[in-house]
Amino acid sequence: MQNLQNLYGFDRTQLENLFVEQGLQAFRGRQLMKWVYHQEQTDFAAMTDLPLRMREWLADNCHFAVPEVERQLVSADGTIKWLLRVANGDLIEMVLIPEKGRNTLCVSSQIGCVLDCSFCSTGKQGFNGNLAPADIVGQMILANQALRARGESVTNVVLMGMGEPLLNFDAVVAATNVMKDDHAFGLSKRRVTVSTAGVVPGIDKLREVSDVALAISLHAPTDALRNELVPINRKYSIEQLLRACRDYVEDLGPARKLVIEYTLMRGVNDQPEHAGQLAELLQSLRCKINLIPFNPFPGSGYERPLDADIEHFQTILIQQGFTTMLRTTRGEDIDAACGQLVGQVQDRTRRQSRYRAQLETAQPVVVR
Ligand code: SAH
Repeated sequence: MQNLQNLYGFDRTQLENLFVEQGLQAFRGRQLMKWVYHQEQTDFAAMTDLPLRMREWLADNCHFAVPEVERQLVSADGTIKWLLRVANGDLIEMVLIPEKGRNTLCVSSQIGCVLDCSFCSTGKQGFNGNLAPADIVGQMILANQALRARGESVTNVVLMGMGEPLLNFDAVVAATNVMKDDHAFGLSKRRVTVSTAGVVPGIDKLREVSDVALAISLHAPTDALRNELVPINRKYSIEQLLRACRDYVEDLGPARKLVIEYTLMRGVNDQPEHAGQLAELLQSLRCKINLIPFNPFPGSGYERPLDADIEHFQTILIQQGFTTMLRTTRGEDIDAACGQLVGQVQDRTRRQSRYRAQLETAQPVVVR
């Protein structure tokens, strides 16, 4: 059977081009989007305002498909985690966080992750490739289907699930375009957030083509410490990262800010001196700070910080004039919290076996 193109992965420009290539006008692409996203009609035969010949061509060459739901877990706090099977058989996770007046969907962008941040369990799973753009949009479709029963829909999307979005650049840009498009989900650019561990060329490229909100997983105020926690820092230093951030936020305009994410780990990066260094570092960046207490997982070697230390850390930043939020942990009982998303990845980096070997040889787990 020939390979059908999954049109959930096409943004407006790509759909318009598809029609133009078939000798039709570009507006036909927008007509198709309205059928799919506003009428939720994915049967080409029913799209009666498209020329019959084109409907037939679409049915022969294209389809709409979403990942398969393997399992759905509901937390006591209302957070829902889905285990989804994508086309190559791997399992990925997505998380829906319902709050008063908003539904935030945390979507995955890759199958596992290559970055191997020392405190993240997704990293420990290894990596087996990029998600297709349709797999990213498909997560949104599935979450909206689940919310429809309550008369609700996804209001905010964060690319904070498995993977590094800026290492799956084209797919992430296409998928976020669909999320923002009035012919599709119509979310405001402020409500679609790409989160990165610091892929500097990716940030620069994103600035050229998109206006989504940007979050930076910083986690350390010095290169020495960040090199250990977020290994990509060895390639792109904090200074290079902050340069890219300033350029990005400059382009967004004066009313918008970057989000700096900082996972607090006990005795590692949660001391007053770190807060002071962080405040100094971020002085000239238009940003707000999200503090995330570390979510433990077996064998991580890190611990959640003491409440008193979290509070002290936050107070220092607030005193220095930073809007500083403490991210409450959600969905802990179903392992849906930040850094706990693992899915089931056919690791091609052999990291999983190295990691297991390390656990088995019972090397003392280092807590710095
Ligand atoms: N690769 C992107 C997207 C992943 S976002 C990025 O790094 O931004 C996932 C967020 O959860 C990141 O900020 C990550 O650093 C954080 N995180 C990872 N493991 C965690 C853990 N065990 N506890 C708390 N936060 C964690």
